[in-house]
Amino acid sequence: MNRYPKRDDLRAMSGYHSPQVSVPVRLNTNESPIEPPAEFVRDLATSVGDIRWNRYPDRAARELRSAIAALHQVRPENVFVANGSNEVLQSVLLAYGGAGRTVATFEPTYQLHSHIARIAGSTVVNGTRNADFTLSGDEVRRVLTDHQPSVTFLCSPNNPTGLAEDPALIASTVATAPGVVVVDEAYAQFSPQSALGLVREDARVAVSRTYSKTWSMAAARLGYLIGPTWMIEDLDVVALPYHLDALKQVAGITALKYVSHMERGAADVVAERERLLSEMRTMPLTVWPSQANFILFRPNSVGSGDSAGAAAGGIGRRVWQHLLDNGVLVRDCSSWEGLTDCLRVTVGSATENAAFLVALRSAVSARD
Ligand SMILES: *Cc1c(COP(=O)(O)O)cnc(C)c1O
Repeated sequence: MNRYPKRDDLRAMSGYHSPQVSVPVRLNTNESPIEPPAEFVRDLATSVGDIRWNRYPDRAARELRSAIAALHQVRPENVFVANGSNEVLQSVLLAYGGAGRTVATFEPTYQLHSHIARIAGSTVVNGTRNADFTLSGDEVRRVLTDHQPSVTFLCSPNNPTGLAEDPALIASTVATAPGVVVVDEAYAQFSPQSALGLVREDARVAVSRTYSKTWSMAAARLGYLIGPTWMIEDLDVVALPYHLDALKQVAGITALKYVSHMERGAADVVAERERLLSEMRTMPLTVWPSQANFILFRPNSVGSGDSAGAAAGGIGRRVWQHLLDNGVLVRDCSSWEGLTDCLRVTVGSATENAAFLVALRSAVSARD
């Protein structure tokens, strides 16, 4: 072995871990349970036939940006597109974070905000949420004042806790933040509110969205950001040339012809979410409300054995394992800061949700 050491600041880090296990019911990564319509696949196949494979794709992805701009009634100059919203976030951090700069998050929240910020060389400061996972104005003010972050992340609805942020708090954060504010709206279509209305030329705020969740397009890796034109120009500086391949551009444009189909799908997921929530509330669990396509929950501990057994895996981990043994994979958040024993389930199809509920009921009653 003749390994060369990586950067010192990356030594303690590991890559993204969400097990990709082959099980009958996969409810761990918040994908859509609905496939895109057959017409989409046919349409896309036709368009793929028109791609000039020997040529680089349109570097500015103009047609795709225009289609997204039309969807949100903004100008194409207000749209940045990348390989998944994770690459959108990375681009923001390369442009505005990085060495010598500070990035703020409010935990628990989407882990990739801190992770990508660190990889970009930034210093990360983590504010904390209230016990009920809402965000307090005092805590936001403390973090902004004490740390003067160049980038502040809000996530609305927040992953993995489920609730959207208070719109007044988002607005006041944008008004007072010393740097840029990114509102990550990966789950906005499942929620009645959005921060898109805050985006304007003289505000330092942008909203990121993804095709991965609502639009049944996780396989395509496509995300975008709506922001002021100066920010889009800055992001275009750090993006690699031709980073969006022709296939993906065509897939993104074609998907937008089926927006009403996708919106019906999102409405079905919301109805299933409410059904799941009411079933789960009949079980010995703490269940948090959700405005997204997933639900955070924690099995109630029974007796003293659960805290004593925490080192060997607490009750959250044991319920996670029981679900997996029964063919249902959910997200294990039980070891995350502030989320002891918590699990997160993605709202799936009616059949998947039914299988989850059966397995969950047996997991939490097996212990009684
Ligand atoms: C799933 C998710 C994303 C999406 O990432 P993609 O790279 O677009 O698949 C972004 N932000 C949050 C909060 C998410 O949960």
